[in-house]
Amino acid sequence: MSTFTARETDKIKKEINHAVNLNRTATSPYRVSVLGATGSIGTSTLDLIGRDPTSFEVVALTANTNVEALAQLAKRHKAQHAVIADNSKYQDLKNALSGTSTKVSSGAKAVIDAACIPAHCVIAAIVGAAGLKSAFASLSQGNRLGLANKECLVCAGDVFIKQAKSKGTQILPVDSEHSAAFQALSGAHPETIEKITLTASGGPFRNWSQEKISKATLSQALNHPNWSMGPKVTIDSASMMNKGLELIEAYHLFPVTADQLDTVIHPQSIIHCLVSYTDGSVLAQLSDPDMRTPIALALSWPSRMKTPTKRLDLASIGELTFERPDETRFPALTIAREVLRNGGSAPNVMNAANEVAVCAFIDGQIGFCQISSTVQTVLDIAHAKGLLRNSSTLEDVLEIDTQARAIAKTYIRSLC
Ligand code: NDP
Repeated sequence: MSTFTARETDKIKKEINHAVNLNRTATSPYRVSVLGATGSIGTSTLDLIGRDPTSFEVVALTANTNVEALAQLAKRHKAQHAVIADNSKYQDLKNALSGTSTKVSSGAKAVIDAACIPAHCVIAAIVGAAGLKSAFASLSQGNRLGLANKECLVCAGDVFIKQAKSKGTQILPVDSEHSAAFQALSGAHPETIEKITLTASGGPFRNWSQEKISKATLSQALNHPNWSMGPKVTIDSASMMNKGLELIEAYHLFPVTADQLDTVIHPQSIIHCLVSYTDGSVLAQLSDPDMRTPIALALSWPSRMKTPTKRLDLASIGELTFERPDETRFPALTIAREVLRNGGSAPNVMNAANEVAVCAFIDGQIGFCQISSTVQTVLDIAHAKGLLRNSSTLEDVLEIDTQARAIAKTYIRSLC
């Protein structure tokens, strides 16, 4: 794919450093790429950008197969590059963008190339471990990541954090709980942090009996009470695996141990995270449950930008309630805690097994409760095979991911 010459790249990098150092007071627009532009996070990001088009320049937009949505977004935002991962869709995208100045390319390598184009912020919003390579490549080029793809830190947290440090660049969390923690931790001395508590809505099955949950259908699992999200993360919210993944994400982002991370059910999804300090103070971030608030912070930090989100009216909300998660009905949370304590490749294996099991649930091959039981079984098999070793490179992470997926698929076949 044609991108920039070395000289152009140097010039862009200098402008970017200048803008970031000046807290975005530089006059040139803020250059943003969105990996996974057609998804829930991607379209919310572009909704914000579209409301302030003179402040932003859209560098690259990527999607997997959805040519129509990608072409529309590329036209609306005058994207410099549009990339479709599915090679068979190249000509469709080319036709849809004919007559525009957008450069079109396709294939997994082209997605990675797009991620590497210099930008002030690259929103990593591809779903699942499929987003690891492009996000890592972007970080390796020194781009600041607005990280929605929690799987990057779950599967390869040490590798990503080490790379961000060595490149002197930042990973800004987009996940609402981590964006909240990031804000509540501002200026904190690590030794003064007692605990970080991630809130969870409890999902659609919060009040369901174990028996009813075991018969849950796909449409029931997709019926999230508060958040509008892509299907994978919505099903993870219903099983509470999402909160488990988020505990691991928080462990890598913030200076705390596994034992300093906690969760609480908060059905209204108004408080996103609480940070408890050694003096008894608890700092929290509150906002309406709308992903455009944390996305806006990643796009504008250390400043803030205007968003059209609903403003909080606590008097009309009336009450904010809290309960302890029930890990008997939601065993994914217990599995994730155990995995976090074990470390090594256990989180990577857990994620791979969960992705395969969620797909199998969507395809009607397994029941809802078999998602968590599949994950536990795959972890046990992987442990017996010595697969839970440490991974120090992205290649090793991806190799273990492949092996764990194969185990999960074989196991699911044995159930059908
Ligand atoms: P969606 O399913 O809505 O969107 C996924 C995006 O990734 C789409 O653009 C899709 O393209 C693209 N994509 C999927 N597979 C591939 C692939 N193999 N190669 C390249 N691109 C691919 O997901 P969400 O927006 O809901 O979630 C994205 C990430 O953000 C996830 O990791 C999720 O956990 C995280 N997150 C999401 C939240 C939300 O509110 N949605 C909240 C917090 C975190 P196409 O449209 O062509 O299929």
